[in-house]
Amino acid sequence: MEIVLAREMGFCFGVRRAVEMMEEATHEQGPMVSLGSVVHNPQVVEQLREKGLNVIASLDEVSERPVAITAHGVSENVVRELENRGVPVVDTTCPIVTRSQQWAKRLADDGFAVIIFGDPNHKEVRGVLGWAEGKAFAVTSIDALDGLPDELPSRIGVLSQTTETEGHFAEFVRALLERRMDRISELRVINTLCNATTSQQAAAQELAHKVDLMFVIGGRESANTRHLAEVAREEGVETHQVESADEIRPEWLAGHERVGVTAGASTPDDAVDAIVTRLRELAPA
Ligand code: SF4
Repeated sequence: MEIVLAREMGFCFGVRRAVEMMEEATHEQGPMVSLGSVVHNPQVVEQLREKGLNVIASLDEVSERPVAITAHGVSENVVRELENRGVPVVDTTCPIVTRSQQWAKRLADDGFAVIIFGDPNHKEVRGVLGWAEGKAFAVTSIDALDGLPDELPSRIGVLSQTTETEGHFAEFVRALLERRMDRISELRVINTLCNATTSQQAAAQELAHKVDLMFVIGGRESANTRHLAEVAREEGVETHQVESADEIRPEWLAGHERVGVTAGASTPDDAVDAIVTRLRELAPA
């Protein structure tokens, strides 16, 4: 059995940068807290906890310790609240997410209704929504477009969650035009997709053509890991999304000759190494 790795996978630059900034901050400033998990990856969260970074769920738990904002970012209200409380802040928001937040704010200030193609419960999207001062709506699917209020402004700005696929975002924009053309006087589409995830998705798609089984490694809560698995399945290849090596069942490998491996943007290199080692151990002779 041959194991083939995607040409691009694993930690994206935004997550790598956030983790490094937090490691450096705990080293220099001592124990601190992060508002939510650094990344959707339990192993990375545990490694950082050992270095002094504890996860808190909300501003209610903020004390005098420094607070880290994670790569997914937070709403403008949260930033202002932290400033008001005077606690030291380590802002590791990924620059690509910051760009999305700035566009949401700018469009809302200019009188546009802002539609974000993404999951309203995802941390990044909740943060971006919060920069548009109540003038933004997150829509998860084309069907959900019908749930938008009728009385939206006729000027519409569209953004995407950074980890969406190019194909899905393009379909969404097309459907928005088709369904609301009679109510739109101006449409601004801002491409807020992340190059790191789109090129990982392209690499996963390319790999899916070359193998007969795929493993996508990453946290179950990780949106970009889920999208990688979707991309592989859309190419018709049997695909398993796993968080750790011990989830792999030997029977999954039976009858397969070329196994592809890719990993989400929040998956560290050692998680990938552990999966590859496990696959080698289990590989039929
Ligand atoms: S996936 Fe892209 S947007 Fe998200 S943290 Fe990584 S580099 Fe930034």
